[in-house]
Amino acid sequence: MAANTVTETIGTVKQTVKSNSKPTNAEKKSDYGKIIALLIEVGLLTKTQVQYASRVQSKLRTEKPLLEIIKELNYLTDGQLRKALRENPLSIPIGDFFVELGLITSRDLDLVLQLQKKETPTRKLGEVMVAHNLIEERKLIAELSLLLGFPFVEPDVSKIDPNLLKRGAITQYQAHSFFPVRLEGEKIIVAFADPMDPRDIDAAAAAMGMPVIPAIATKLSINAAIAKLENDKMVGSQIIAETGESVVNIVNTMIVDAIEAADVSDIHIDPMVDRLRVRFRMDGVLALHKDYPMSIAQALSNRLQVLCRGDIKDRRCHHGGRIRFDHGGHQMEIRVSFYATVRGEKIVMRLLKRQTELLSLDEIGMSKRVMHRFQAGALDRSGGVILITGPTGSGRTTTLYSCIKHLNTMQNSIITAEDPVEYVIDGISQCAINTKINLSFEDSIEHMARQDPDVIVIGEVRDTFSAGAAVQAALTGHKVLTTFHAEDSISGLLRLFNMDIDGFLAASAVSCVAAQRLLRRVCVHCARPYELTPLDLRRMGCEFDQMAGAAFSKGHGCSHCRFTGYRKRVAAFEVLVLNDPVRDGLIEGVTSHQIRRVCKETTEMVTLFEDGFYKAALGITTVEEVLRCLPISHKPRSFAELARLLGK
Ligand SMILES: [Zn+2]
Repeated sequence: MAANTVTETIGTVKQTVKSNSKPTNAEKKSDYGKIIALLIEVGLLTKTQVQYASRVQSKLRTEKPLLEIIKELNYLTDGQLRKALRENPLSIPIGDFFVELGLITSRDLDLVLQLQKKETPTRKLGEVMVAHNLIEERKLIAELSLLLGFPFVEPDVSKIDPNLLKRGAITQYQAHSFFPVRLEGEKIIVAFADPMDPRDIDAAAAAMGMPVIPAIATKLSINAAIAKLENDKMVGSQIIAETGESVVNIVNTMIVDAIEAADVSDIHIDPMVDRLRVRFRMDGVLALHKDYPMSIAQALSNRLQVLCRGDIKDRRCHHGGRIRFDHGGHQMEIRVSFYATVRGEKIVMRLLKRQTELLSLDEIGMSKRVMHRFQAGALDRSGGVILITGPTGSGRTTTLYSCIKHLNTMQNSIITAEDPVEYVIDGISQCAINTKINLSFEDSIEHMARQDPDVIVIGEVRDTFSAGAAVQAALTGHKVLTTFHAEDSISGLLRLFNMDIDGFLAASAVSCVAAQRLLRRVCVHCARPYELTPLDLRRMGCEFDQMAGAAFSKGHGCSHCRFTGYRKRVAAFEVLVLNDPVRDGLIEGVTSHQIRRVCKETTEMVTLFEDGFYKAALGITTVEEVLRCLPISHKPRSFAELARLLGK
C-alpha cells in the first residue's frame, strides 16, 4: 500500500512539472557539468572528446548522461574518474553530483527537490531519493564511498572505546545521524549517513570536541548502533528475545516471510561479529532480510533443531535435518543444514518446492518451435536418453520435473533414483539415494529395470557407472531422463563420450541434449524501452542492422523488484536433437568445433546465447543479463532469422 501511495505522489508531481514552464535543472546548465569541467582541467579529457560525446548524446533517443557516453567511448575509465574525484574535492550539491554521474535523471532530481520542499520537517536530499525509490540506499552509499573515497564503515558498539562513546550525547548522534568509530591520531573517525553535509560534520566535531574524519555508513546501521547504545545503557547488555516463546515467534515469522515472498528459495542465517544476519535468496540472488542480536543465536539454533525433531547437537559439528511446516493449510518441507563456523553455526534453510509449484512444459520458457522439436524428436518418442545440462542453479532440475510431469500419465510407469528427491509427485516411484543405509545409486539402478518401467529418471549422471547405466537402459527400450553438469549441449555430449563408454552405443542411445541457464526477467512494473549502445552491440558481436524488429527493455527499479529492475527468472535453452550427421560425427570422433558446425548446418539448433539474445530482443530479459550469464561462442544470427527458428 505504502509503495502505491508513493508512486501516486510522484505521479501528481510529474503532472505539475509538465505544466510548469520554468527551466529544469538540466536546461539551466549551459556547460557540460562540473565533473566534466574538472576532468578537462586535470587533462583526462580533451574538449574535442567531450564535444564528440555530446554530439553522440544528442543523437540518442533515450536520455543518457554524458559521462556514461564518455566512458562507453573509452575516453575515461571508472578508475581514472574515481582518482580524479578523490584528488580534487568538488563543492557540488549531492543532487547535481548524482545527475552528472547518471545515477538519477535531472527530471527525477527536480521531482525530489519539489518533494523535499513540501516536507516538514525537511529531510536530506539523499534520504528523500531513497524514500521515493529513486535510488537504493546501498547503491547511494557504495557510490559515495567509491567515488569520494569516504571509508565505508559499520559502527559496532561492542568494539568502540566506551570513553569515546561518552564524549557525545545520544540525542546529538540522533539529530545529525552520525556515530563515533575510533581515534586516528589527533582526529576522530566518525560514521555519517551523509558525509557531504557540512552541518552534520560541524555538529559532530562540536559534539566530540575534536576534528573529525568523515566516513560513510548506512542510516540503518547508524540507527542500529544508536539503538544498541541506548539499550545497553538501560538494561546492561540484556537484549530482547531471551525467552523460548519469542524465539518461537522469530523462527515462525522468518519462515512465513520467506514462504510468502514467493520467490525465495533459501534462508541464510549467518553469525556476524555483532549480530545474526538473516538473508533470503530471491531469484537466485541473496539479499538482507533482517538483523537480530547475536544473543538469540543459540536459542534460535535450538528451536530449529527441535523443529527438525533432532536432539540438540554439538555446535562444533556439521549436521542437518528436515522441517515440515504448516502454512495456509499446506505442508511445506524445509531442509535445514547447520554448518559449524569459527563464529558459531551458520544455518541454511532450503524451502523445498511443492507439487503445486511444478511448472508445466509450456511454462519453462522454451520457445514454441524449440519445444515442438524437443517433444517430437525426444520427449514423446519411446526410447532414448534425454540429457538436461547446465551448471548448479541453472534450473535443470525444474525442467527435469516438468518433463516428468508431462510423462506422468496412466500409460507410463515412471521410476526414479534421486539424490535428493526435490519434489514429491503423486503416481511415480521416487527413490532417494541414501548411502547411510546402503541405498546406493548402483543398487537402485540395478533394481529399477526389474520394476518394468517405461521411463527411468536418474537424478544426475556423475560417473562412468551412471552414464553407462543410462545408455544401457535406453538401448533396452526405456526412455531415460537425467541431468548432467556441462556448459552447453555440445560440451555435455562430448563429456559423456569421454566417460569411457562405448561411443557407438552412446551415439545411438542419446536422443537429445538440452542445455540451459536462468536469466533474470525484467520487472514488468518498472520496465522501460532500452536502446542498444554501440558498446552493447560490440559486446554481443552484432551489427545494428541485425536488430530490425527487436524491442529491448530494462527495469529502472521499484518496490516490486526490490529496486533491482528484475523479478522472477526465465530459462534460456539450447536444444540439440541428435540426427544422423551428428551421430556420425560423434562416432568418427571429430572435434567440438566440427560438431558445432554440423549441428548448426543440419539441425535447427539455436545456441544458448542466441536464445538469450532473442529473449532480450523481446524485452523479457536484458542485454546485461545475457552477457553476464551466457557463454558466447560465435556471433548470433539476426533477430529475424532467430524469430523464424524459435517462434514466439
Ligand atoms: Zn520493478
